[in-house]
Amino acid sequence: MDEKLKKDELAGTVKFTPSLCKQRYEFIKQLVSKHKPKKVADLGCADCRLLWILKFCNCIEMLVGLDISEDVMKEKMHVLYPLPGDYLQPTERPLTVILHQGSVAQKDPCMLGFDMVTCIELIEHLEAKELEKFPEVVFGFMSPAMIVISTPNSEFNPLLPTVTLFRHPDHKFEWDQAQFQKWALAAAARYDYTVEFTGLGAPPPGKDVGFCTQIGVFVRKYQKNGEPEAVEKCSEHVYKTIFKAVYPSLKDEKYLQTAVVNEVVRTSETIARRLLENRKSKSKKVCDSVETDHPCLRSCFLRCVASPALAEADNPDTEPFLNGQTVYIPLAKIFSFPKVKQLCGTVETLSKLITGKVALSSDASALLIDIECENEEWENEQLLPASEQ
Ligand code: SAM
Repeated sequence: MDEKLKKDELAGTVKFTPSLCKQRYEFIKQLVSKHKPKKVADLGCADCRLLWILKFCNCIEMLVGLDISEDVMKEKMHVLYPLPGDYLQPTERPLTVILHQGSVAQKDPCMLGFDMVTCIELIEHLEAKELEKFPEVVFGFMSPAMIVISTPNSEFNPLLPTVTLFRHPDHKFEWDQAQFQKWALAAAARYDYTVEFTGLGAPPPGKDVGFCTQIGVFVRKYQKNGEPEAVEKCSEHVYKTIFKAVYPSLKDEKYLQTAVVNEVVRTSETIARRLLENRKSKSKKVCDSVETDHPCLRSCFLRCVASPALAEADNPDTEPFLNGQTVYIPLAKIFSFPKVKQLCGTVETLSKLITGKVALSSDASALLIDIECENEEWENEQLLPASEQ
């Protein structure tokens, strides 16, 4: 990278691969996988790109974006909706994604109780008055366990030849390392946080200007317990909610029931098929030993073996068996399948979730599968002369 940077610098450009923007998202993703926050808010979320990346982090159950601009959020917010696959295979984790329009200079109780708050390239867009209020709102009021703030390092700007005053026309200021660190240390001291400084986009060798993007990672020093006190102080909602998506989750009984019924039907069909295959191969052996090619005799014989007596299984409480044209599959057998066990936890829950959705025996101890058609097909197969099979 250093060689490339040198060349780019000579050519009048400094490029980062991957782009700094991607590196910043990756930095947050790494922090999330390390600290496993459940509730994450991205302030100044713009077109929701970071939120979209974070929705795939399995630890997160609540993901909230805030931006002053409703239009910029609306551009891409559709990417935050659940996909068909989320409905087909809901996961254990509940996930709610919400977008609010509002300012980080204002307090709203919907921003309380977060574990992590990210402010990526946000503070340099704030007017002086907003910046003044920012620490009180984010550190004092929201007071999450961790806050990540990134902002451009103005000392790097001379290496970016296209930059004249600021890197972006909407920037109200750009700080050097000393300015950012002074501001960050003051906020940390005032609101009882520690802060560590790092950055992304190293300068070329010999250019001792610090990272292109400077980052402060703040960690709250004190433990919070119970309901946040701040709710009492501020109960007025000032943000406007513009998007909310509740992802399907197995924690929701409606989705759990669908998943269990699908799994039970699949499992039962496998069990029934295995039982019939077994019987088929056993009786075919016997049938082959019957010394006749006469179709009527074979048919008569097959009807006998295809209509066994009730409860022929070794243990009808746990093993499937055939009674006439019905396969009985004890719930205990279905429950022994790992996926069913994992979804239901107990046989009682299994029974509760499938009652009314599948055919059960009168005492509700077994699931019933009617195999009339399958047996007919099978018998017809047996009746065909070998050459036609
Ligand atoms: N965080 C985004 C990312 O990393 O992709 C980019 C942020 S963009 C450079 C700055 C965003 O801050 C803009 O979308 C802007 O609308 C938003 N913004 C500016 N002032 C704000 C305020 N007072 N409250 C909330 N958001 C604000």
